[in-house]
Amino acid sequence: MRIVLFGPPGAGKGTQARLLVERRQLRHVSTGIILRRAIREQTPVGQKAKLYMDEGKLVPGRLVRALAEEAISLVGNDHFILDGYPRTLEQAQWLTEYLNRHHVPLHAVVSLQVPEEVIVDRLSKRRVNKKTGENYHLDFSPPPPDVDPALIYRRQDDEPEAIRKRLEVYRRETEPLEAYFRAEGCLYPVRGVGEMDEVYERIEEVLRATEPV
Ligand code: AMP
Repeated sequence: MRIVLFGPPGAGKGTQARLLVERRQLRHVSTGIILRRAIREQTPVGQKAKLYMDEGKLVPGRLVRALAEEAISLVGNDHFILDGYPRTLEQAQWLTEYLNRHHVPLHAVVSLQVPEEVIVDRLSKRRVNKKTGENYHLDFSPPPPDVDPALIYRRQDDEPEAIRKRLEVYRRETEPLEAYFRAEGCLYPVRGVGEMDEVYERIEEVLRATEPV
């Protein structure tokens, strides 16, 4: 299956992607993860991208494009989840063109619907394990006591000002892609509120209905 997980920051794209990888053996392509790796490795792209990401802005298309293109081609053309890509109309058009050229169109764009107050709560209470990349929520799934507290950190872009900026950027640049994918006939809105497994089951329903027989 070829799917895009779509939605605002904090919609649960990363969490659901992890479940889809485990349960459906799909390959996960997250431009956010790729960019954070580039920052850690202090590559030239990473150093430039950091300036935008820390403020909650989108990384300019020319920087992200090469990384996305490489990642998508490396996973092969089947069985992947794109998470956090595309985020602009230009990226969506490139993706459609690329997949059409390889005769491998998307099966579904799963658009996670989450109210703004839930997003702000999730992001401001999100913590990440530096070593494993695992996400926690301070109230609902706090870091287990056996994890060294020194490994737990708050993403720079989960600071309140950056959260506000990311949501604004999402509404302006990314949300309009829903209309684009609706017109392409592959948009499936899914309620993203509730237990992780409940949301997963809603996604499964979409996948069962759209997967090739
Ligand atoms: P994420 O981990 O998906 O929340 O992404 C974190 C940050 O990485 C975003 O706020 C952007 O600054 C940057 N980023 C990730 N994916 C893209 C993309 N497709 N286009 C531009 N910037 C991106």
